[in-house]
Amino acid sequence: MTQSRTFNYTPLIILGLVALSVLLFAALVMSKSGSTVGTNTQEQSQHQSSYRWRMVTTWPKNFPGLGTGAETFARLVNEMSNGRLTIHVHGAGEIVPAMGVFDAVSSGSVEMGHSGAYYWRGKSPATQFFTTVPFGMNAQEMNAWLYHGGGMELWREVYAPFNLIPFPAGSTGIQMGGWFNKEINTLDDLSGLKMRIPGLAGEVFNRAGGTSVNIPGGELYTALQTGVIDAAEWVGPANDMAFGFHEIAQYYYYPGWHEPGSMMELIINKDAYNSLPADLQAIVANAIRAASADMLDHYTATNNAALQSLINNHGIELKRFPDEVLQELRQMTEEVFQEQAAADPMFAKVYQSYQDFLTKAGQWHKVSEETFYQVRRNTAPE
Ligand code: CA
Repeated sequence: MTQSRTFNYTPLIILGLVALSVLLFAALVMSKSGSTVGTNTQEQSQHQSSYRWRMVTTWPKNFPGLGTGAETFARLVNEMSNGRLTIHVHGAGEIVPAMGVFDAVSSGSVEMGHSGAYYWRGKSPATQFFTTVPFGMNAQEMNAWLYHGGGMELWREVYAPFNLIPFPAGSTGIQMGGWFNKEINTLDDLSGLKMRIPGLAGEVFNRAGGTSVNIPGGELYTALQTGVIDAAEWVGPANDMAFGFHEIAQYYYYPGWHEPGSMMELIINKDAYNSLPADLQAIVANAIRAASADMLDHYTATNNAALQSLINNHGIELKRFPDEVLQELRQMTEEVFQEQAAADPMFAKVYQSYQDFLTKAGQWHKVSEETFYQVRRNTAPE
């Protein structure tokens, strides 16, 4: 009994304190892990959310290259996101007309569009640089300017007031000069012609005495056939043959001085884009870059067979614009650049960046690409 009265309680007290500490620590861990579980659940629910978007386009549904390029992008996004973001591609006229794409995406009535920036020069003249301008960059140079030369930042700046985020969506490469039913031997031969030729080139064509109009691709055949227009440019041999222009025009002119490396665009409504989790935004950005590369490959792979077929099976006459005509068109192009730069500060800003990059890329390509093309041709076996 005496022994029990003198029992040392110190170890029990220490044990009790330790146990209390463990309990408090455990409670703390549980409360922390509880909040972690909460965050995970929130993230998981965002990751499990699926998004069903609509894309409007300026092209006929599944039109080779342009329409199929939009479909390739939609398929890649679906595959890469495991179906969390699905995009239904609509041809021109299904939801909005070919030239209604910009406004439809800007207003948010649809989430996405696939088109060409130069169609929107009425919104801002600087948009023209993001498709192509006469005597400008080829496809390789455009890609380099956009991704590594500051072009993308300028494009986003130009589109920001319209609540749009743009992405390069594929190049046709250099286009053909267009379809004519009369020979073009001098600049005077352009005078009085009504031609479908969009963008800055249209201004140059007007200066040369013609009348430029912009008509969506799907309406071009009828316009040319019925004499609404006298001449038309669209893209290149593969696309032009698909529309059947060889049935109603005799002369197929080159080079495409007016469109040396036309870049298509993907535009996304900014609010819609911001609603996506970061991983889906990354999927969109990378899927469009892959689809963009694929589009240029497609054109490079298909144009020559179409051109040979147009010449050999359909009897069209392939003609080169005379150097004198090209020289005069170049002179007029420079005048249009200067006038539009003086009239619009954003045009001037983008023009400066574009021109600086083209000058530097041109210096390198004079040594590399240009020389090699000449050498390859001149040394070819007979
Ligand atoms: Ca064109």
